[in-house]
Order: sequence, then C-alpha cells, then structure tokens
Amino acid sequence: MTRSLCILGSTGSIGTQSLDVARLRGYAVEALTAYSDVKTMEAQIREFRPRFAAMADEAAAADLKTRVADTATRVLSGQKGVEFCAAQSAADTVLNSIVGMAGLAPTLAAIRAKKRLALANKETLVAGGKLVMDLSKQNGVPILPVDSEHSAIFQALQGAPANRALKKIILTASGGPFFGKTADELKNVTVKDALHHPNWSMGAKITVDSATMMNKGLELIEAVWLFGVSPDAVQIVVHRESILHSAVVYDDNSVIGQMGLPDMRIPIQYALTYPERYASPVGELDFAALGKMTFYEPDYETFRCINLCRRAIHKGGLLPAAVNSANEQANAMFRKGEIGFLEIAERVERVLETAPQKEDYTYEDILEIDRFAREAVRGDT
Ligand code: NAD
Ligand code: MG
Repeated sequence: MTRSLCILGSTGSIGTQSLDVARLRGYAVEALTAYSDVKTMEAQIREFRPRFAAMADEAAAADLKTRVADTATRVLSGQKGVEFCAAQSAADTVLNSIVGMAGLAPTLAAIRAKKRLALANKETLVAGGKLVMDLSKQNGVPILPVDSEHSAIFQALQGAPANRALKKIILTASGGPFFGKTADELKNVTVKDALHHPNWSMGAKITVDSATMMNKGLELIEAVWLFGVSPDAVQIVVHRESILHSAVVYDDNSVIGQMGLPDMRIPIQYALTYPERYASPVGELDFAALGKMTFYEPDYETFRCINLCRRAIHKGGLLPAAVNSANEQANAMFRKGEIGFLEIAERVERVLETAPQKEDYTYEDILEIDRFAREAVRGDT
C-alpha cells in the first residue's frame, strides 16, 4: 500500500519519527509544516522534496524561503499556510503531530478536505472533540490514533463483535519520573527533574504532562471521543515498564491488549498502513529478558491532574477545552521557571471551577475559552 503524506509538526519528536517511517516505506511526502525550526525543516525539504512547506512563524517562513530558493518546494507562512498544507496538498493522509490546541484548526481543515487523519495531537480531541468527531462523521473521514495507548486500544478492538461487547478500556500509564513521590517531595522539583522521563523520549510539553500525569487525564478524554465510551468505562492503571500499551476488557472478561517495546514508530506506522501491517524498524519484545511487568493503582491525591480531566469530561461542553488550555499555559510557565510544579494542578483546578460553561459549542467558543483560561492562569503571577 502506498500513501502520500502531509506531516504537520514535522520537526518535532513524532514528526521526525513519522518521517523515519515514510523513508522506510517509501511514501511520497507532499507537505511539511512546523513552527520555527528552519534548520530541521530545510534538511527535511532537501531529503523529501515536498511540494509545499509551511512555517507558522512568519519570520521563520521568510528565512526558510531564502534557504530553499533553489528547490521546487513552495514555502507558505502563518496559521493559514499550515491549514493550506493540511487541506490543499495532494496528500491522501495528514499526520498531525503539532503540539497543543494550535493543531485544532489544521485538523478541522484536513477533515473538511476529506483527508485520512493520523492523529498524534491529542489536544485537538480534548479541546474540540465534539467538533472533530461530528465533522469526521459528516465527511466519512477516519481518525487513526497515533498516541500509543489509543493505537493499542484501536488494535485490541480489531475483530470485536458487531455488538462490540466492550466492557471497559484499561488505559496504561508509565507513572512518569515522579512515580511513588509524595506531594511534599514534589514541591521543589525542577524542570530538569520533570523532563527526565523513564521510558519515552518526547517533546518538552508532553514530558512535563507525563510528570504531572495530566497526560493521562488528556488521554482519558481522548479515549472517550475516539472510542465513544463513557469516562467511567476507562480505568487507568500504572504500568511502569510501558510494555502493555493499553487493553480492552470484553463482556466475557477476556482482556485483549497490545504489547511491544516502547517506540512510537510502531503506532505511527500502524496509523499509516492500517489495516495492513509491515516490518518495522522496532525490535522484538523479549519476554524472558523483560522478566516481569508491574501494575499499580494511580496516586490520585498526589497527581491531581488526572481527576481534574475526569471532572471536566463528566461535565462536558467547554470544560475539557478550558482544562486543556489552562494546562498548556501552566505547563509552559513551569518550563520557564515562573511557577512551581504543584502550581500547575492548582491553577488548572481554579480554571475548571471558574470557566463559563456551554454545552453546545463552536470553534469560536473554543478560542474564547482558550483566551479566558490562559489569562486566568497567568493572572496572579
Ligand atoms: P514536539 O514539541 O517535539 O513537536 C511539536 C511540533 O509542532 C514541532 O514540529 C513544532 O514546530 C510544531 N508546532 C509547535 N507549535 C506550533 C504552532 N503553534 N503551530 C504550528 N506548529 C507548531 O512535540 P511531540 O512530542 O512531537 O508531540 C506532538 C503531539 O503528539 C502532542 O500533541 C503530543 O501530546 C502527541 N504525542 C507525542 C508523543 C511522543 O512520543 N512525543 C506520544 C504520544 C502523543
Ligand atoms: Mg500516550
């Protein structure tokens, strides 16, 4: 099977691993987009020769234009340039690996253009799950999960009976770098401590989200939208080794999960080749060498972000978007050294409690709640 790709966020952790898969499988790359990393983008353009490239940052786009003037790639700029790539290139598949809710508008643009969507950008579903799922149904466009847990759930659901018979989803979590610590011990942790993830090498924002376990809360909401289940049907289990990437429990209590070494190129490739499978660059799991797998109940008292997300998705409407934007802002402030680690959850909680609610929302409502949440988190610094 061949694919032609547009990769949004191509210079990031998922973006570069997606290009590894594209290189290996010989896929045509029609368009690439990024925020401001022109050096990486230039190298990607020279290797993959896309028809279009967009930099969200205008100055970066101007710089890139002169750097690649000798190539046939047309350079676009700004949010509009990114959306043009998502919708207008000749790609049949758009892989969205942008970080943050900045990925929402390009996601909607890709679905409107009836592109097959491989989605790593979980914030898109957390902020605008209803818009995205409704639009994908209207346009008959599949959304293929790239997030490792959701890919595992999607894989475990292959071969489900017509009535689905799905009892619940087991969403696994590594527990992050601060597993086993008390809130008191987390008071003074540094950005460097938080960026030290035990099992995965990822972008800075999601690595801090893994340390607060906000990442698992966002993934709970992502699972609710992708698989159409109630939040109560998603059980979170800490699994330190990140080998069982998630599982489903059917009505007969059979548990079907997906396992493998923790390497994102497996879920990325599956999202691109689905329903087929091919050899991948990832090694085989050696059970005897692994020895054991461990499982624990999450510590919801210390890692409060998980339940903030649970509360938000229970209430629905705009509250998941409010929590997501508040977290984006607080996460960035923590990384800049402006607030402490525990203040992330505190500030997100305050937004959850004060955000104006709206059951049925539009894209403009999401932009408005985004402004409200960021302002509220910044507020009293
Ligand atoms: P990253 O920071 O490494 O890369 C982000 C990419 O998005 C970069 O190419 C950047 O240039 C681009 N970008 C940033 N802001 C932008 C904006 N405003 N407009 C347009 N482009 C912008 O992040 P990552 O770790 O690759 O994560 C990307 C997404 O995938 C996130 O939603 C994350 O939660 C999800 N995800 C990542 C992993 C992982 O292993 N890294 C695993 C599962 C899910
Ligand atoms: Mg994940």
